[in-house]
Amino acid sequence: MRILLVEDDEMLGEALRDGLRQESYVVDWVRDGGAALAALSTATFSALVLDLGLPTCDGITVLRWLRQNGRTIPVVIVTARDRLTDRIAGLDAGADDYLIKPFDIDELGARLRAITRRAVGCAESMLTVGEVVLDLRQRVVTCHGEPAALTAREYAVVELLMRKAGCLVTRAEIEEELYGFEDDIASNAIEVHIHNLRRKLGPRFITNLKGRGYRVEIAR
Ligand code: CA
Repeated sequence: MRILLVEDDEMLGEALRDGLRQESYVVDWVRDGGAALAALSTATFSALVLDLGLPTCDGITVLRWLRQNGRTIPVVIVTARDRLTDRIAGLDAGADDYLIKPFDIDELGARLRAITRRAVGCAESMLTVGEVVLDLRQRVVTCHGEPAALTAREYAVVELLMRKAGCLVTRAEIEEELYGFEDDIASNAIEVHIHNLRRKLGPRFITNLKGRGYRVEIAR
């Protein structure tokens, strides 16, 4: 999953970015509200971690812009503003959750899992397609009951395809999910991931629709 982190504090931003990457998220980090709006206009993210006090335009303005434009991306506010009125203002502006600094990275991880689960409309933490089961909480995939040894990016591809099981997922959507703005993408990177996943999860698990994208078939 790809996360946009908006935090102007260098030390905290770096710690959050590294902590979320440890949890296998793809993280883009920007340091002000204007850059956040630019990123949100050009890329798709699974969730937004948003500081409130920011240069150029503050977090509440970013949030209002999102909601006024009908964008339903899950948002966790992270801020030192702990007054009740601030929390209410944040939630009223459209935040899904609110964490007061300082907080533990594990708690942020848990909140992100909860709000992204709600966003896809399933309170379940397991996705199942045929013999393949993906545990969103443990971030583990099993096939015929055996754990599959997946890299972080292979896991991200499977999660995206399984969340959209039965639907076509384009190569561009997969690239956007897997890579941040700063990453170089090898031209055959997605094909390599798909090849490895077929080897690990079965040759028919992922269907290739020539030139259009990929799909995980829902078992009938
Ligand atoms: Ca700040």
